[in-house]
Amino acid sequence: MPSYGTGFNPNDLNKYLGLKVGGYGNQLREDVKKFYGSVMGMSGRGESIAREDNYCEIDPTTVDEFGIPVLRFKYSWSDHERKQARHMHNTFEEIIENMGGIVLGDKPGADRDYGLLNPGRIIHEVGTTRMGSDPKKSVVNEFEQLHDADNVFIVDAGPFVSQADKNPTWTIMALSWRTSEFIIQELKKTKYLVMNRRDSIRSLFLGSMAGGLALESCVTEPKAAVEQKIWEYQYGRTPEEQAYDEKLLAQKFFENSELVKIKRLANLILPPNEEGNIEDAKVPEFIEFMAKDFSSIQTQMRGGLMWLDNYTNKTYGKDFITCSDDEQHQVLDLIAYPDSKF
Ligand SMILES: Cc1cc2nc3c(=O)[nH]c(=O)nc-3n(C[C@H](O)[C@H](O)[C@H](O)COP(=O)(O)OP(=O)(O)OC[C@H]3O[C@@H](n4cnc5c(N)ncnc54)[C@H](O)[C@@H]3O)c2cc1C
Repeated sequence: MPSYGTGFNPNDLNKYLGLKVGGYGNQLREDVKKFYGSVMGMSGRGESIAREDNYCEIDPTTVDEFGIPVLRFKYSWSDHERKQARHMHNTFEEIIENMGGIVLGDKPGADRDYGLLNPGRIIHEVGTTRMGSDPKKSVVNEFEQLHDADNVFIVDAGPFVSQADKNPTWTIMALSWRTSEFIIQELKKTKYLVMNRRDSIRSLFLGSMAGGLALESCVTEPKAAVEQKIWEYQYGRTPEEQAYDEKLLAQKFFENSELVKIKRLANLILPPNEEGNIEDAKVPEFIEFMAKDFSSIQTQMRGGLMWLDNYTNKTYGKDFITCSDDEQHQVLDLIAYPDSKF
């Protein structure tokens, strides 16, 4: 690919043509025009394979500016890398000659490791916390999880076992992706929280476990039913929180007739649509739980439900639940707008 011609001395190329090297003025101008766009270069990348002979260790003597010992690397090329380099040079030559070009410069031989640069020169820093299935020979497993501590994951280039010919970043990202999916799967297995929007709202409330409990009607639920209810809530809880939940779930606060009214109210406030309905979201159960969790709101909640029946009895001569849809909406209209007479 043509370049600007500032990265090399154009006169120097004359040596390949048996011409005088050097010069300035018009000669230089001519040389620039002559060589501009006529030279191409190639550089090769291969894989530095994983070898036990290559390793890093804590340097026993050198520390960094904070007094932390630095890493010391022992690294050398093997015949695998040397043969790759030789093959690359032969291939480059073949390409250039088949294009009708002339190969310039020296071709490095075995004495110069076929042109291999020093290890690390390409600055693609990878490795040191190697991935592998054997805890004795590797630091992390295939999911970048420490063999020694399963709640620690290394999601950078550390788990690379070899220095591939490709730039590292895409592989770092691909491995991190796999690790993330693994963590999610593990979380699901252990019933830790994977929240959807509704669950998160519910958890916000469930998370605030404070206050005492004043049950007005205390019915004990069978143990199996309580256990089933607990596992309906897919959240991570400490043992203490879980015990508290179990205690509340074993009790009952609202009468059945009140729960029917709560369910109807919830359906009026959030009618079902394609996103779901309040039954599936377990809104009545949540309100029941909330009432048990926050004793301070019990009187208001029960009082509000009683008020509904008082009002509809006075106005329509029947309980709220037996009112028509229109009548129920009229009642809600009264209390749902700040500028209503209520
Ligand atoms: C100039 C340059 C250009 C590059 N270009 C490309 C490219 O184009 N494409 C590509 O894929 N790769 C490229 N690379 C390589 C790539 O950037 C590295 O391979 C990659 O960043 C390694 O990621 P990492 O998270 O494992 O390590 P790093 O990105 O090096 O992160 C290590 C982190 O650890 C911190 N750290 C070190 N010691 C301590 C300590 N004691 N306590 C706390 N923190 C510490 C460092 O400050 C650093 O933030 C390039 C690298 C360089 C230097």
